[in-house]
Amino acid sequence: MRGIARAEEIGFSPIKINTVAIKGFNDDEVLDFAQLAVNKPFQVRFIELMPVGQVNSGYSEDYMPTTQLIQKISGRYELEKIKDKKNKSDGPAKIFKIKGGRGEIGFINPVSDHFCSTCNRLRLTSDGKLRVCLLKEDEIDLKKALRENCSDTELKKLIREAILLKPKQHDLVCTEMHLKKCYRNMSEIGG
Ligand code: SF4
Repeated sequence: MRGIARAEEIGFSPIKINTVAIKGFNDDEVLDFAQLAVNKPFQVRFIELMPVGQVNSGYSEDYMPTTQLIQKISGRYELEKIKDKKNKSDGPAKIFKIKGGRGEIGFINPVSDHFCSTCNRLRLTSDGKLRVCLLKEDEIDLKKALRENCSDTELKKLIREAILLKPKQHDLVCTEMHLKKCYRNMSEIGG
């Protein structure tokens, strides 16, 4: 909290606070997070838990869909959807304002309402691989190519090949919570 206060004091803008809501872990703090967007000009963003790495075990008990979060927050505050035209920095978040509040609330729904068709993300993993999608195991080994002194043209070709591997959408079957396992942890894949 001191770090956030300092960022505000220095004049960072916008200040975004990302949180992953997890049942039985921090769902009792959802309203406290929302309160931050009442008192401060922050964008508080709730991201759905994804079945990645160690998160897989017990995922269906831990997962909270955005609809539940909206229900919970709406029980105390009046949420108004804003911005049909979003800021570029909002990314895939759906943005709301709490009536009378200074900040904004964002919801990012990678599981219940995926936004894969507009996804432009590639991630460089901590071991030098280009990962085309958080929820797919496809990775292109850039480190190996660079260690073998590949040319810029060859590197460009590899990156293009990676982009072509991007899926149209992830294939989580979230309605039945029958989930495909994604083995690597977020900290390894740059999520
Ligand atoms: S394509 Fe992959 S990384 Fe992009 S939004 Fe879909 S699941 Fe996430």
